[in-house]
Amino acid sequence: AQCVVAVDGPSGSGKSTVSRRLAQALDACYLDTGAMYRAATWAVLLAEVDLADQESIFKVVIDTEIIIGIDPAQQAVEVNGTAVNAEIRGPQVTAAVSAVSAVPMVRQLLVSRQREIIASAQRIVVEGRDIGMVVAPHADLKVYLTASVDERARRRSSETDADHAATAQDLARRDHLDSTRATDPLRKAPDALVIDSTQMDIDEVVATLRELLNN
Ligand code: C5P
Repeated sequence: AQCVVAVDGPSGSGKSTVSRRLAQALDACYLDTGAMYRAATWAVLLAEVDLADQESIFKVVIDTEIIIGIDPAQQAVEVNGTAVNAEIRGPQVTAAVSAVSAVPMVRQLLVSRQREIIASAQRIVVEGRDIGMVVAPHADLKVYLTASVDERARRRSSETDADHAATAQDLARRDHLDSTRATDPLRKAPDALVIDSTQMDIDEVVATLRELLNN
């Protein structure tokens, strides 16, 4: 049978590291849906479209070829044939991604692509914001990974050059934008298992999930 694991949660919760490690341990594929929204945002910024103009944003995204790799050992993201792995993690994309991912038509388009990718995999760990609720409501295991804002900011600022206070502020801003959208439910699925990783390290979280999956 197919096995789908949905991992949702806010930025800095450890989602990406946990999802990738879990996928490797399960010998499964890994889909980073945030990378797809980031790739779309990169294309929108390149096209210099007004971020308030939802129709133009959608036009750019539908005309953009986004290729996302599903190998947990190496992330590969291409936009119109150009590798953008590093670019999509930069501050410009991070600042604009909430606006682009708030466009309902953009979400519809990317969600349907995500479902195709999931359907084509035997085993897959999928991470994002709306996976348990929208993208894969029939997932075998749904996890909602979280941690305190302070801890999330500490983890994020150790990955980037930004200082702790600025990172905490940006996380709070994005949490707010991502959670107050009226267009769709980026909420925790009621049947998701909540794991607060504030006091846990990655290995403990991965071990907990493997136990739940009997693997
Ligand atoms: O997880 P990551 O920080 O890369 O996600 C970037 C942004 O993409 C999030 O802040 C959110 O606005 C958006 N996103 C989303 N739905 C997803 C994954 C990401 O709206 N499934």
